[in-house]
Amino acid sequence: MLQVEIIRGEGLNSNIFILKSDDEEKILVIDLGLDGLHTNFALKKALEKITKKMNNFQIEVFLTHCHIDHILGSDNLAGYANVQYSASPQTAKHINEKDAVTLLSMYGSGEINYSIEKIYNDTEKISFEGADLEVIHSPGHTDGCAVIYDKKSKSLFAGDVVFAGAGCGRVDLPTGNRTTLITSLSKLAELELEHLYSGHGPDLHTNVKENLLAAKRMLEW
Ligand SMILES: [Zn+2]
Repeated sequence: MLQVEIIRGEGLNSNIFILKSDDEEKILVIDLGLDGLHTNFALKKALEKITKKMNNFQIEVFLTHCHIDHILGSDNLAGYANVQYSASPQTAKHINEKDAVTLLSMYGSGEINYSIEKIYNDTEKISFEGADLEVIHSPGHTDGCAVIYDKKSKSLFAGDVVFAGAGCGRVDLPTGNRTTLITSLSKLAELELEHLYSGHGPDLHTNVKENLLAAKRMLEW
């Protein structure tokens, strides 16, 4: 069973998920929250706890999309040497160019002090012992949104594509597109799904497919 450490986002912060590979060589962090101060360094503390007994591990930070509330908390990773940032091609472009799609200018303070070096194309796998992780491009909330699907545990790390309670991310922000999001939700609803870990709010462990289809119906109204 995939062990998922969850740092629940408060206020504007996104949720943060931490996965540890079975061979203890890799830690995958999914999204970063808004910044270290706002999350009270919860990510830093969680990582310290996990890495205490590990040697030679690599940390990969996968960003589900480029919005500020998911990408700014890199302060929490200061002190770790082996950190690599990854995302879809469009998300990488928005973050590396710090463009308007990130909404950075709306937040005012905060600096992106890293760049995305690893790009995942649609359906590409993330190498990770103990899970079968696939990156699935799921645009609509932004043009670069991507989710991580673990085929083994039937878990979906959805970012802002869909939330528990049949909600989904806004489509009125830069590069948002309602029709594209409907298509993405249809595609994701075809997966075998038992667990939903979204970018905001609670997780869902029953009726995940029904939740996706209900979110899609809400968008179609
Ligand atoms: Zn977002």
